[in-house]
Amino acid sequence: MNTFQDLGLNNDLLQAISDLGFETPSEVQEKAIPTLLNKENEEQDLVALAQTGTGKTAAFGFPMLQKINVDSRTTQGLILSPTRELCLQITNELKLYGKYCKGLNVVAIYGGASINEQAKDIKRGAQIVVATPGRMKDMIGRKLVDISKIEYAVLDEADEMLNMGFYEDITSILSHTPKDKSTWLFSATMPKEVASIAKEFMHSPMEITVGAKNVGSEQVSHEYYVVNGRQRYLALKRLADMNPDIFSVVFCRTKRDTQKVAEKLIEDGYNAGALHGDLSQNQRDLVMKAFRNKQIQMLVATDVAARGIDVDDITHVINYQLPDEIETYTHRSGRTGRAGKTGVSMVIVTKSELRRIKSIERKIQKEFVKKDIPSGIEICEVQLMSLANKIHNTEINHKIDGYLDSINQLFEDTSKDELIKKFFSVEFTRFHNYYKDSKDLNLEAKHSSERDTSNENSTRFFINVGKKDGFNWMELKDMLRDVLQLGKEDVFKVDVMGTFSFFNTESSQEKKVLETFNNIEYNGRKVKVEITEDKGKGKGRKRGGGGKRRRNNSSNKSFDRSSKGRRSSSRASRPRRSRRK
Ligand code: ADP
Ligand code: MG
Repeated sequence: MNTFQDLGLNNDLLQAISDLGFETPSEVQEKAIPTLLNKENEEQDLVALAQTGTGKTAAFGFPMLQKINVDSRTTQGLILSPTRELCLQITNELKLYGKYCKGLNVVAIYGGASINEQAKDIKRGAQIVVATPGRMKDMIGRKLVDISKIEYAVLDEADEMLNMGFYEDITSILSHTPKDKSTWLFSATMPKEVASIAKEFMHSPMEITVGAKNVGSEQVSHEYYVVNGRQRYLALKRLADMNPDIFSVVFCRTKRDTQKVAEKLIEDGYNAGALHGDLSQNQRDLVMKAFRNKQIQMLVATDVAARGIDVDDITHVINYQLPDEIETYTHRSGRTGRAGKTGVSMVIVTKSELRRIKSIERKIQKEFVKKDIPSGIEICEVQLMSLANKIHNTEINHKIDGYLDSINQLFEDTSKDELIKKFFSVEFTRFHNYYKDSKDLNLEAKHSSERDTSNENSTRFFINVGKKDGFNWMELKDMLRDVLQLGKEDVFKVDVMGTFSFFNTESSQEKKVLETFNNIEYNGRKVKVEITEDKGKGKGRKRGGGGKRRRNNSSNKSFDRSSKGRRSSSRASRPRRSRRK
């Protein structure tokens, strides 16, 4: 593997690289830097395709910094980038890379800030200008910037810029630049528009591809969840609740949906925020700041507004709705799995959108995993264990020591077990209450178990075997059907927990089920099957979760099923999360 020394960079740059702690060049840097530094072909144009987070800024930044003349105040390099955020980010990076290049002046120009201030900065002599296309065009029009002598033009995130409708601006800007400059185009994907820009404005560009074209990052796994369109929001909440430490961007298609989803999440107690074009720059800055500080765990954003987001530890990208363009999906999922970390890109789809998953798979050359929206009880388990781990890892605050005696007194007669249960209940009961009667949101699951949710005649059973006995839901379903000699659709809603499970059958099978399991052993243990109090609907109650009133006498018809189906989990208020910080 090459080192930065091998790439032909000068000492000022190497020193900065070592200060930054970059050890080895990334693939795109390894390929681009020597090409761009090559003195034999000064006017070499370049098209480089690489995912976000692969170090493209340095791939064009180092060569440009080495090639410009810092003793001159003429603008020699122009970098166009789609958003203000990226513009500022590139500018900052270049300043870091060029910190030992005496006399270097890099200036960022972008909309939403004083044009006069920016003009002043340019006037002082900027060898490199980093600009958004809109503001750049504006400043050229007002003769506030002169790019007639530039030698290097970079189109960074070219696909994004074109997606955002900057084609005209870019061509207009380039028409003010010399013909014999070098043009370096960087892009994550290569849609037709990018290819046509390359064809129109570049001369036999060298092409570098890192990884396969238009292929998603290796670090990202892709999942989809099929739900009824009306239940997108509930599904979103479950996905969030299943991942207590989620740090995510939730993509919506419109500004309106973005705002709406964010507002609902906030109302429901999540640390969420909205990012879209109807917000003022100031509002957007505040939201981004809160996101970077992780005060916001779920950033709900439009594609356009999210373009500038460059945060390294995003754990999940959630496609609340699929984007119109497949390319956009690549960009969305590229927000996670950055800087060597792994990430998950989740898609909530309706049945009619399923075929689009296939097209995306073809494009990104990766397969999606079809997953089920977690059940309420699974979420409760996860939340409980997450809480347990948090408590376990909490550092003790010794300010409490002084109160220990009085607290001990209060709990004198409480056993450790009891104390733990009480303590956990403080947080956990809210989740449990919210989810105890929750429905299965998975469309297919719902289909195969129509009886369960839409007709009254199903019964939910508890069985004392579970994951610990080596079952997953499919295996348990098979075993139950086998033992009960029932057909394919006759055992449904099988939820396997640790040491126990739940399943449903038609109520007409109640007697048969109870009788069959009356005398069966598994692994030397007597198998116990009981009817849950949950009337065949929703999730069985967790054992030991308080008030377990299971009925195991099939002739006792006293329990009431009439309320089934009327209770809507969507109306129940969700447990509020304790806000962090
Ligand atoms: P891209 O433009 O491809 O999305 P960036 O240029 O923004 O990627 O780089 C992503 C991150 O990786 C930045 O924080 C950058 O400082 C860091 N980085 C770039 N090159 C290297 C390298 N060779 N070694 C370590 N970190 C690097
Ligand atoms: Mg970049």
